[in-house]
Amino acid sequence: MIPVVLPTYGRADVAFERGEGAYLWSSDGRRFLDFGAGVAVTNLGHCHPKLVETLQNQAAKLWHVSNHYTITGQEKVAAKLVANSFADTVFFCNSGAEANECAIKMARRYQFTRGQGQRNQIICASGAFHGRTLGTIAAGGQEKYLEGFEPRLPGFVHVPFGNMNAMRDALSEHTAAILVEPVQGESGVIPGDPDYLRRLRAAADEFGALLVFDEVQTGMGRTAKLFAYEHAGVTPDIMSLAKGLGGGFPVGACLATEKAAAGMGAGTHGSTFGGNPLAMAVTESVLDCMLEAGFMDKVAANAALLRQRLEALCARFPAVIEEVRGLGMMIGLKCKGSNIEMVTRLRNNGLLLIPAGDNVARLLPPLIIGEAEIAEALTILEKTFAEVTP
Ligand SMILES: *Cc1c(COP(=O)(O)O)cnc(C)c1O
Repeated sequence: MIPVVLPTYGRADVAFERGEGAYLWSSDGRRFLDFGAGVAVTNLGHCHPKLVETLQNQAAKLWHVSNHYTITGQEKVAAKLVANSFADTVFFCNSGAEANECAIKMARRYQFTRGQGQRNQIICASGAFHGRTLGTIAAGGQEKYLEGFEPRLPGFVHVPFGNMNAMRDALSEHTAAILVEPVQGESGVIPGDPDYLRRLRAAADEFGALLVFDEVQTGMGRTAKLFAYEHAGVTPDIMSLAKGLGGGFPVGACLATEKAAAGMGAGTHGSTFGGNPLAMAVTESVLDCMLEAGFMDKVAANAALLRQRLEALCARFPAVIEEVRGLGMMIGLKCKGSNIEMVTRLRNNGLLLIPAGDNVARLLPPLIIGEAEIAEALTILEKTFAEVTP
């Protein structure tokens, strides 16, 4: 008999009932150190007191009004995002896939508005992940997500991630935009070389295409900068955000320059729930926390400490871990054995990581971790590596 919840996920047999900071407690009373953060979502930890207070206060005032009216919270959050990014304007939605759908529509609309409607192709990277809607599985281009869901949406071309020659060969008078993740997440934590990202910017300009960064996972401090593009010193024309944006409250956003957004007038796009007062109140608090003086410096210092300790530990277990890679608080451990088995064993020992492609176990800890949580994670990793050492 089919379960009452559609069985689209392979779920671990554990249910959590309470969270605080970097810790989760399961219904059977066990405590876990959460270095997955709901896949890079609870970037400020579980039940951050400031976010709890904000949500409770907003819940007593106003939950939802239609986008037919002015939503003050949207204007406040958008102003903060604009003041702290490349962007001039923001569209609010509810998820990463939706943020990318907006980005794709905006790129096509930009070309259409300037009389270049034949430019409707989006060039993406192989191994990309942009979401699970019909549009974003076509953008991701991964067969495992497309199988059985034909016909696939046309208009997406794929080239190997990091290969500039292949990218330049694919650019043409049909290209609307280049769409990449600055660090590929789901396919195994693969950082784009800063020089590659800079050359994507130059090539997009040369060919009259827009540059779109999917920062759904890398954004909101995950790489120890508010946005990952800051590491490369180039800016996109359009950027999608979600995951960490609401600290656990569902919200997404598509940010753009005035030029890229020029075609998106009244009636071109919309969302019933997008940017509702509850989401905006929490998102404003998330931004306030991350923009506090010294916050990101502390994240960078702790990320460097975590990385250094991981490299030292993994060097002692070459038969278990092949490589440590990533950027900031987004770290992949490439496993020699099964990454799924590794994640399961770590969970049994009290540490939550997230599997990714290329046999990688991903560390996506909340950005608020300090020395104590890092030391505890390393102890559990060491114990687990010793268990599986052949
Ligand atoms: C998670 C993710 C998405 C999809 O986000 P949803 O909120 O699940 O729709 C898109 N792009 C990247 C890079 C992601 O990591």
